[in-house]
Amino acid sequence: MKQSIKEFISRVERMNPNEPEFLQAVTEVAETVIPFIEENEKYQNKKLLERMVEPERTIMFRVPWTDDNGEIEVNRGYRVEFNSAIGPYKGGLRFHPSVNLSILKFLGFEQVFKNSLTTLPMGGGKGGSDFNPKGKSDAEVMRFCQSFMTELSRHIGPNTDVPAGDIGVGGREIGFMFGQYKRLRNEFTGVLTGKGISFGGSLIRPEATGYGTVYFAKNMLETKGDSFKGKTVTVSGSGNVAQYATQKATEFGGKVVTMSDSGGYIYDAEGINEEKLAHIMEIKNERRGRIKEYIVKYTSASYHEGKRPWEVNCDIALPCATQNELNGEEAAMLVANGCICVSEGANMPSTIEAIEIFHKAKILFAPGKASNAGGVATSGLEMSQNSLRLSWTAKEVDDKLHNIMNDIHAACVAYGKDGDGYVDYVRGANIAGFVKIAEAMMAQGVV
Ligand code: NAP
Repeated sequence: MKQSIKEFISRVERMNPNEPEFLQAVTEVAETVIPFIEENEKYQNKKLLERMVEPERTIMFRVPWTDDNGEIEVNRGYRVEFNSAIGPYKGGLRFHPSVNLSILKFLGFEQVFKNSLTTLPMGGGKGGSDFNPKGKSDAEVMRFCQSFMTELSRHIGPNTDVPAGDIGVGGREIGFMFGQYKRLRNEFTGVLTGKGISFGGSLIRPEATGYGTVYFAKNMLETKGDSFKGKTVTVSGSGNVAQYATQKATEFGGKVVTMSDSGGYIYDAEGINEEKLAHIMEIKNERRGRIKEYIVKYTSASYHEGKRPWEVNCDIALPCATQNELNGEEAAMLVANGCICVSEGANMPSTIEAIEIFHKAKILFAPGKASNAGGVATSGLEMSQNSLRLSWTAKEVDDKLHNIMNDIHAACVAYGKDGDGYVDYVRGANIAGFVKIAEAMMAQGVV
């Protein structure tokens, strides 16, 4: 690693002790962006990256609520407003027991670059809580969401900060939070995205992250004259992103053979077709159950407790669950088993070692900040529709999403192509994202 990169990273480490995920996300960006700054005088001596790694504002707050037994519970709420150079802060809320400042800062930092790549006017932020929605009644989730929004409402607004969903925050939670914001502020406004269709949501928003991940993979495959047709696909996760990635990969002619949750993965050699996916959606979205329930109905499939799907032979892998769910050993296994393409639906699912292995093997690899940007892009389209007080058709939104994913792919190729023609999508995404934010920051002075 170059000295300038080492010095930069050790400063960030000193300033942010005990934040391994944040440091991992910064390292990945610094390794590609610092050499670019060193080659381009106009970005030098402005401390651009030093400013970008410091959130503009970090809010932490108490979230007290009462459970169904009348017990008082206390969780911690967060909103990291990272960068507003190109638009209002924008990024999801995550409710999961593992949530801490390191995780939200890594997500917020990645979000800044991702939102820049979408070409839409959105800054970056992220928030959430260590609240665990699993096993809670709808009434408990509602009381938690109302308490969380009571404090968060002071800090957000349609021109300031527009949160959305993420792990543990879907349509139900967004609805409860929107209701509380409206009640407190007496304003019906586009302050959250991922809303229900009856109160300002956008068609295709639920599908957008998963679809976008597959559109990006399709673009990458096309650079090799290849496609999804006849390919075996492994998907991890079984939540929002995984479900719609599975749907689109199947529609494009791929055969998805795995899905997972934090308990383990299911393997279905015949492929998870439309009917089987509908069953998974019912298990996960309606019953809020576990993926292992799949093999009760589809008995020829198998369940692998405590395992991740990367040991299964595949041509294309779509990690759609969570950060650091694919390590170096698993990346080596994927490559050895003939995998030619990895498109990240989750944020930072591949470790730095895994990415090195994909690059060394010169397989197609898309980092989440490029390949999963379809979700936030469609949130941006939801904001536009709210401002216009109009709703676009599913086709209109899907066409715009498709075009945005094509543009992100083209930007990654423009900045990421090596001398031998191999596209380093990590470098491409980081530099393309950086350039737009840097230009805006330079124009706005030292703020
Ligand atoms: P979700 O609907 O809550 O689903 C999350 C899935 O990942 C579930 O299957 C969950 O299993 C699994 N999972 C969560 N934590 C895990 C862990 N520690 N180990 C193994 N599996 C785990 O969330 P989502 O919206 O699909 O988000 C998935 C990923 O995509 C996240 O990285 C998120 O940041 C990213 N992303 C989401 C969007 C979006 O629009 N939703 C946009 C961009 C990126 P359990 O049910 O067992 O917890």
